[in-house]
Amino acid sequence: MSDIIQLLPDHVANQIAAGEVVQRPASVVKELLENAIDANASEIKLILKDAGKTLVQVIDNGKGMSVTDARLSFERHATSKIRSAEDLFQLHTKGFRGEALASIAAIAHVELKTKQDRDELGTHILIEGSTVKSQEVVVTPKGTSVSVKNLFFNIPARRNFLKSNTVELRHVSDEFHRVALAHPNIGFSMYHNGSELFSLQSSNYRQRVVNVFGTKTNEKLVPVEEETEVLKVSGFVGKPEFSKKTKSEQFFFVNHRFVKSPYLNHAINAAFEGLLKEGYHPSYFLNLTVDPKTIDINIHPTKTEIKFDDEHTLYAILRSSVKHSLGQFNIAPVLDFESNTNLDTPYDYKDKAGKTPTIEVDSTFNPFANERTVAPSSIRHGQQRQYTKAPAANWESLYVGLESKGNKVQNDFAEVTFESHPETASIFKTEDVEQEKTTYQLRQKYIVSTIKSGMLIIDQNRAHQRILYENLLKQLTSKEATTQQLLFPINIGFSIADVQIIKQLQSDLEFAGFEFSEVKEEQVIITGVPVGVPESEVSIVLEQLISDVENDVPDQNFSASDLLAKSMAKSLAIKTGQTLNSEEQEHILNSLFACKEPSVSPTNKTTFITLSVDDIEKKFMS
Ligand code: ADP
Ligand code: MG
Repeated sequence: MSDIIQLLPDHVANQIAAGEVVQRPASVVKELLENAIDANASEIKLILKDAGKTLVQVIDNGKGMSVTDARLSFERHATSKIRSAEDLFQLHTKGFRGEALASIAAIAHVELKTKQDRDELGTHILIEGSTVKSQEVVVTPKGTSVSVKNLFFNIPARRNFLKSNTVELRHVSDEFHRVALAHPNIGFSMYHNGSELFSLQSSNYRQRVVNVFGTKTNEKLVPVEEETEVLKVSGFVGKPEFSKKTKSEQFFFVNHRFVKSPYLNHAINAAFEGLLKEGYHPSYFLNLTVDPKTIDINIHPTKTEIKFDDEHTLYAILRSSVKHSLGQFNIAPVLDFESNTNLDTPYDYKDKAGKTPTIEVDSTFNPFANERTVAPSSIRHGQQRQYTKAPAANWESLYVGLESKGNKVQNDFAEVTFESHPETASIFKTEDVEQEKTTYQLRQKYIVSTIKSGMLIIDQNRAHQRILYENLLKQLTSKEATTQQLLFPINIGFSIADVQIIKQLQSDLEFAGFEFSEVKEEQVIITGVPVGVPESEVSIVLEQLISDVENDVPDQNFSASDLLAKSMAKSLAIKTGQTLNSEEQEHILNSLFACKEPSVSPTNKTTFITLSVDDIEKKFMS
């Protein structure tokens, strides 16, 4: 029998390797930035076109390459960083595989310009799909510039697999942030389609975190410092009240390398135990320094997991040092009455979530309102607004404290509220209305009604999402949403990256009825909101939207209006736990069945079920 095994040609092997190293523009960004850092650059510039799909260019002022090295750098397993297997245990560089440039050159058009300080002239190389097209001498400043154009030009399937520019740019900025945060002493800048997104001067760690995440971050940060024999920890955690719905502000760097470690993340969560409301995540920016011998980073090239020799000890040190910092900065003990109301609110809110506190504070009818001073934080913002608009009365003074609370915090707990009728009233009326009633609410979660064939049970939250979603989508596509002008513009602070997302979606948000007077670096000023969106909900809607773009990473059929409609429907829909009066219940029922697709929520979850009389009878058989 003839032999059938062959060695793969280099360019094929490189393409296969590229499949592992390069998934998207952000992977190229990571590799190029890391090479620049390994070359001891003090200034690094990242230039992108179309979220990196058309161009990723990294320019550094590092040590550059000789003519021979420039050419060799594109060979597989060509590296200047390790010489023997032992070196793997003493790594002080980011790269060591010698795979990145070879892989990138296999699937893109690459242009390299590089010059060492002592040389007069530099080297210019053009490579397309692993083939060197030209090599020339060039006049170029000290350092290296690598341009990667038309990523995946020769693998259409992978190119089509790329997500929308919004999503890809998000991945790129995440990568850029990770590298920039790990190296505050290096200056970084980032440009996209000709405009500057970030310009980060060489600085200390605190300034770097603030420059990346926005000036408002400064007040959030609590320093963490600890030095033991096995581990040095330094950096910051965010104060609990600034915790986020997303995990976008969670960073561990081990020896200046961004890593993900669910185990160590758990240690931080443990330190924050009892301080966070449900569904919120602490922010942290922590640098861990350990002996390189005690870690194994020799894993998959693009993965960020890491193996430590003694995880348990690290866990304990990390947890106690974070706890210590929170305690030292007076953040942990929140139980005394005078403490920060921002911190109390989550607890009160959490406990009260299933109730309707409205009845207790209906000022118009309650002459004893003055006695209700004890639990101001149990009043949800929705009601609170309603009451502060009522004619001035004594009771107003009771809420003075609440007014001064951060607007953002209030918003976080606001919910959509119907004009609420005191529940007590319906208790008295029940008997008379009994026969007319066609719907009931079960556990403040389901609306139950009878239909010809039996019984109908509707999930109130999902149903309302469906209703809102279809309405919003209609408004968005017909571009005929009505805007409600605000008397006082709302000013919301966001991180620079978050503002980018809003910018990308701005025109859709405007079709939905939003009106912006400014969308600039770290803040958004809103002058109009869609009719039906309460002012108090605006920041929630936008935060939810950002977190949806971040988390759901929409697929390539990603339609901004669909995403927006889904996200807004999610934020604005009536929640489980909300009491609905008969009118409201009926309204949901009728509007749901007027929908095009009443049976599922916008995220494809069942909105209602039916129980036929047959089903019910079967249950009574035995
Ligand atoms: P690795 O970083 O794992 O060594 P790469 O393929 O990323 O592999 O790079 C190959 C080699 O090219 C590096 O080891 C380095 O010597 C050289 N090189 C790459 N980028 C630069 C740069 N920006 N400045 C100087 N040398 C570089
Ligand atoms: Mg490298």
